[in-house]
Order: sequence, then structure tokens, then C-alpha cells
Amino acid sequence: MSRTAALSAASAGAPLEATTIETRELRDDDVLIDVKFAGICHSDIHQVREEWGPAIFPMVPGHEIAGVVSAVGSGVTKYQVGDRVGVGCMVDSCGECAYCKDGEEQFCTKGAVMTYNGEGYDGEKTKGGYSQAVVVSERFALRIPDALDLDVAAPLLCAGITTYNPLKRWGAGPGKKVAVVGMGGLGHMGVKFAAALGAEVTVLSRSLAKQEDARAFGATDHRSTAEEQTFEDLKGSFDLILNTVSANLPVDAYLSLLKPLGAMVNVGAPSDPDTFAAFSLIGGSKVLAGSNIGGIAQTQEMLDFAAEHGIGATIETISADQVNEAYEKVVSSGVRYRYVIDTATIGA
Ligand SMILES: [Zn+2]
Ligand SMILES: [Zn+2]
Repeated sequence: MSRTAALSAASAGAPLEATTIETRELRDDDVLIDVKFAGICHSDIHQVREEWGPAIFPMVPGHEIAGVVSAVGSGVTKYQVGDRVGVGCMVDSCGECAYCKDGEEQFCTKGAVMTYNGEGYDGEKTKGGYSQAVVVSERFALRIPDALDLDVAAPLLCAGITTYNPLKRWGAGPGKKVAVVGMGGLGHMGVKFAAALGAEVTVLSRSLAKQEDARAFGATDHRSTAEEQTFEDLKGSFDLILNTVSANLPVDAYLSLLKPLGAMVNVGAPSDPDTFAAFSLIGGSKVLAGSNIGGIAQTQEMLDFAAEHGIGATIETISADQVNEAYEKVVSSGVRYRYVIDTATIGA
């Protein structure tokens, strides 16, 4: 057991404060990671504030982790000291169920172990990446290619895979028209990936304030959803709509923007239920879907794709003492586009 500096919330809604925590003794298949950067995901805030049901405190959030391997267990074969690695939303799964065998560990029937606010199969409470060190099984560490800087790679481990997975599954590529609803932490990654996959990308958001950024990320069009005309103009236009906003939307209006057989996939999670009319789907045999991160193999594929296409998150790097203030800005959509904590500043 050794101690490391981390940012921890003592109870629901409490501010994050620097403290020291224990990391577990390395098991045979574990790697010790010297964490360099940790992204701030909106779900960190929901969990610290206990907005998603009972949570475990004290809590060290963080599931967008990038760092360097600093020690390996005796049975580790995949990584060596000095390797650049990342950790996302999961740190363990049963490895034996049909989903694990299929590389879809997020659907593990025993329940995948979440990176923080979770409990390992041995009862150990998990602690996340707002920390100078984490210990994780090599099976859940991802290789970060040399072409990606660690700071812009960190958010790929959640925001990246969350958008890459549905874009791949629903066929974003050459000849396809994709709309990305909302251009925040998730949305800006969705735009970059959809464009790099070869799709023609339109951003749909209330304000057009981020229009220039949308073009820089690869979108060719940006329309305001505050204008009713937008829904007239774009009727029946898209093969795929990736909805990244966590506010309730007029779902029927968005479904009308799909071509027949098109799909609208939700990765944003409003707290109230959405409603829609079945006929909005039936007429054009349309699909309304959701998507949940991605398996470990696909997360590696996403990192390799990002490196090949020069895609990282667009970030603002902050120090540990700015995290509580940053949370407020994430909630008020004031971040462009992801805050990343320089973990060297924890306790400094
Ligand atoms: Zn996340
Ligand atoms: Zn499993």
C-alpha cells in the first residue's frame, strides 16, 4: 500500500479538497499509473453531487485518465514502465460472460466495476483519476499512441469513446449526413470523429456562438434550433442524429429531420423523461436509440483512430485549486470544451 495525493469530496455536494489516499498493493496483473492529466466529465459532477442516486463517499472522481506506467505487477505482459496509458469508465469486469467475451465489457452481466464511485468484486471502493496515481488491471489500461499528447488524450477515454461508438455502429462515413446536437464536451468530439470518418456534419444548437469552432472541428453547417425555420429547412436530411445534450428536447421535431431508416442516438441524459409519438418513428421506419461508452477493444481502436487523424479533445488545462470553480462553469456550459486537471498541482 502506498499513499498518493488526490482530490476528494467528503460528502454529497462537498467541495473537492486535496488529501492523500491509499492505492492498493499491486496484484499480478496490475499496473501503477503515474497520472498526468484527468478530464472533468459532467458525470463527475452528477456523482459528486449525488444526483444519480446513492453514491460512495469520500469520492475521488475522474474517469478520463492519462498517464505513464510507473510499476507493473509480476504477471503483466501488455505494458512496461514508461508506457503511456489511459483509463476510462471501467476498471474490471467478470471476463467470462457473453458480453465480456464479445469485448462489450460495459454490459458485463456481473456488472462492470466503475472507475470511481464503485466497488470492486473484492469489496474495495474504487477511486478515480483526480489523483497522482491509480492502480488498475492491465486489461483495463489503454495504450495512448505517441502521436497524442496526454492532456488532449485524457478526455477521449470517456467523451471520445461515448461518441465514437455510436458513430461507428450507425454507419457515420462517406456519403452519410450526420447531425450532432449540442457542441459541448461530448458534442465537439462527436463533430471531430464524424468528420474524420468521412461524414458530412451539421451542428445543431440553440446558439450559433460556436460556429467558427464547429467549422474548425470539421462541420460544414451549423444551424440554430431556436429558429423554427431550421426544422423546415432540414426536414428529412440526416442519416444519423447524435444527441449529446442533457436537456429535454422536442423529440418528434428532431425525428422529422431524419431520412427514412435514419437513427437518432442519445448519449446526453436529461433528468426528466422525454416523450415522442410512435408515428414519428413508424412513418419512416426510424430508430431512436441510446449508447453507453464502448468496450475496451473499441476504446483502443478509437485512440488509434484519433492518433491517425490528429484528433484530441479541445481543452483548457487547470490546476487542482480551480476544480470547484470549473465545475460551476461546466454546469453553466462555460467550458470550451473540456477541463483537464494537471494532477501535478494536487496538494502543491
Ligand atoms: Zn464521463
Ligand atoms: Zn462479464
